[in-house]
Amino acid sequence: MNDETALLDRDRFASAADYAYAMLRREIVEGRFSPGRRMREIELAQLLGISRTPTRQALSRLEIEGLLDLRPRMGLVVSVLDEDAVEELYEMRAAVEGTAAAMAARHASPRDIALLTRLLEQEAALTPEPNALYRHNRELHEAIHTAAHNRYLGKSLNALHDAIALLGPTTLAASGRPAIAHAEHAAIIQAIVERDDARAERLAQAHILGALEVRRGILERERKRDRGGDSEGG
Ligand SMILES: [Zn+2]
Repeated sequence: MNDETALLDRDRFASAADYAYAMLRREIVEGRFSPGRRMREIELAQLLGISRTPTRQALSRLEIEGLLDLRPRMGLVVSVLDEDAVEELYEMRAAVEGTAAAMAARHASPRDIALLTRLLEQEAALTPEPNALYRHNRELHEAIHTAAHNRYLGKSLNALHDAIALLGPTTLAASGRPAIAHAEHAAIIQAIVERDDARAERLAQAHILGALEVRRGILERERKRDRGGDSEGG
């Protein structure tokens, strides 16, 4: 695969299947395996340097999670989301992230608050590289979920995050968005620190709906580009 992927340490994983799952998931979530890519067991087993059985186990796990889709005659491919799915996904995420922020405002421990503050400071100093921004953003949101202290929250949010990653380049790659997202994160964390749950919820919802706006713009440009390509070809 590539240098970034090679960083995953195989010894950290309990089994070859867990390792394959983590590697493949990361390739998809970070966009190196894009929607529609065929996921052939033999090829992937070779890439990973493991046998076919654990590779197959990893693939079926990714399929159950919705990151892969079984297509007639093609076999497994990285899932492609349509326009409606995108809207539904962000609406759901706005609701759940809002709830998470409200819970964090009520339940965050001093340690949670110290972590959130530190992550916010780190974010201000980050280099504007999309994958670095994506990873940091995810870490920050996960810290809010942890601060919510609700064990049922995390799983649903992780699934939503992964599905959003299928959409390709993070909205944080859009020009101007990292600065806006940083200001929004700061405001959400401020509300959590002040124990204002209603404000934290409203701000977190607005943050996700802002990302949806950016996403709509990206998809619209992609559609125009595709249409342009068609008319030139025909
Ligand atoms: Zn964010």
